[in-house]
Amino acid sequence: MRTSKAIFTAVLLASMSAAAQQAAEQQPSAPDATQTVQPAPAAEQPAATPASQAAAPQAIPLPAVVATPTTMDQVVNLFIEREHGLMKVLATRTPVVETYLQNLVADPQLGPVPSGDHYFLGRLDMGETVDRKDYLKEEEKGMQSRLMGGFQKLYKVQYQPMGFSWMVYADRTDFDREHYDFRYARREFLGDVRCLVFDVTPKPKSGKGRFLGRVWVEDQGFNIVRLNGTYVPAPRNTYFFHMDSWRLNLIPGYWVPSFIYSEEGDFSAGVKNKLAFKAQTRIWGYDLKKGGKDDELTQIRVDSVTDESAAAQDASPLQAERVWQQQAEDNVVERLTSAGLLAPDGDLDRILQTVVNNIEVTNNIDLPRPVRTRVLLTSPLETFSVGNTIVISRGLIDVLPDEASLAAVLSHELAHIVLGHNLGSKYAFNDRMLFSDEGTYQNLGFKHIPEEETAADKKAIELLKNSPYAQKLDNVGLFLKALQLRAPQLGALLTTHLGNPLAEGGTVTRLSSLATQGPALDNNKLDQIAALPLGGRVKINPWDDKAEMVKAAPVAITSARDKMPFEVTPFFPRLVRFGTGAAAPAPTTAAANSTSGN
Ligand SMILES: [Zn+2]
Repeated sequence: MRTSKAIFTAVLLASMSAAAQQAAEQQPSAPDATQTVQPAPAAEQPAATPASQAAAPQAIPLPAVVATPTTMDQVVNLFIEREHGLMKVLATRTPVVETYLQNLVADPQLGPVPSGDHYFLGRLDMGETVDRKDYLKEEEKGMQSRLMGGFQKLYKVQYQPMGFSWMVYADRTDFDREHYDFRYARREFLGDVRCLVFDVTPKPKSGKGRFLGRVWVEDQGFNIVRLNGTYVPAPRNTYFFHMDSWRLNLIPGYWVPSFIYSEEGDFSAGVKNKLAFKAQTRIWGYDLKKGGKDDELTQIRVDSVTDESAAAQDASPLQAERVWQQQAEDNVVERLTSAGLLAPDGDLDRILQTVVNNIEVTNNIDLPRPVRTRVLLTSPLETFSVGNTIVISRGLIDVLPDEASLAAVLSHELAHIVLGHNLGSKYAFNDRMLFSDEGTYQNLGFKHIPEEETAADKKAIELLKNSPYAQKLDNVGLFLKALQLRAPQLGALLTTHLGNPLAEGGTVTRLSSLATQGPALDNNKLDQIAALPLGGRVKINPWDDKAEMVKAAPVAITSARDKMPFEVTPFFPRLVRFGTGAAAPAPTTAAANSTSGN
């Protein structure tokens, strides 16, 4: 795994430069003006599924090929039917659902900034039938616990059928012509996909909590790909969020609910808003194997692995210790992956491993086993290591401004490995892996004692000073300052679930001796990017959990409000049809402009 030379390429640097990543939220491609004015679309013949796409991850029935609709009425019938088809296909799924919410307060310079935050992680039972009456019961419960599935259940992985399923579909029980009026609005491209846009309004007296808003319907299979609106009327003492819900064509014939953005609050003069927040909901892990039997089979499958060590000699005590550690490491990585918390090994890990390798090579570190990396799929900022595997969260990769800052957070875990601070050998006992997915955070933990944390920070700084990143530690200092500035408000984002936190009690503790390094934090300096918004770097495939770097063209920052460090932003995924995603180029707009990143 270790290569003899440090790889320190312009390509890697470019992909990690702050300027390049400010284009976090992908821009919509310009709608084709000639299309948007066409009154009646001549819908294309539904595309036949290419043979290469026929091998769906599991046996999911392809929707029947529909006859080309000739009227808007027929289109409405088709997407209503397709919506019910989607509900049926996903009914057996229990994906992971994560909501991260930031309460907002107005800042004169920066606009709405986070004043506090909440985090929720759960499993969404797509088959659960929601009882409307029960759900809409007029209670004195806070609207958050009502629609977000209960914030009192923070930090636990558990099934939460309510609330989220409400926003995943327009209407789970009554999405039909008896309850709704549909009016064709226009055509619009979302990414590569041409859509027909319809306004949806509930019929009078059709009941409470009905969808009011707009749906985008792709013009080949007539699936809804985006919903934008709210639910009306709300029962007394209850509040429905506004939401923008996006689906991706991850399997042939179906568009799978993937991202939901919610936002409330009005900061214009004179408004006494009671509520102001922004929230991102991400759904992934659709193709997770159900726990139980599958897990047992993977435990039995070890007999197919050849035992190389036994051929010539017996294992020395040290060798036995190392094999034991590796067994624990493999167990943990496998278990976290099957629980839907870890992305499978992929391209993003190659980038992370290159950074780790750069530090190793320049420090002459030669470990008996290569260091591996994996991406934790969740938003809270955390890293931990088990055996020789370094794990870093998606949220943390998202907000890091550059490669040197990535190197800094990875170097802390590399230091634990180099210093032999090995945790988790108890997980070499397979019985310790036999827990339900919901119990992951209760059954696994990799927190070091304070003495080991201090020693790892000290060693990490030593490693960094010998590394190719030595001249860029000012950027790390800047990141730590930005983190410190927001740490008191972002308790949930900084609450770790498996490893040590970067900050405790609102104070940044990780690599704190670097925090004084570099220039002062200055919002007015537009070329000073200390930290990025969430969601800007890592793209997760919600079906198979694969992680990759976002490809987005840089967008110039024009005011301090564009910086949005650690903040929640709307989603704008580039929609592509199944099987064409990999080849899709990064969107470019005329406004795209590269500020000099480093
Ligand atoms: Zn540590």
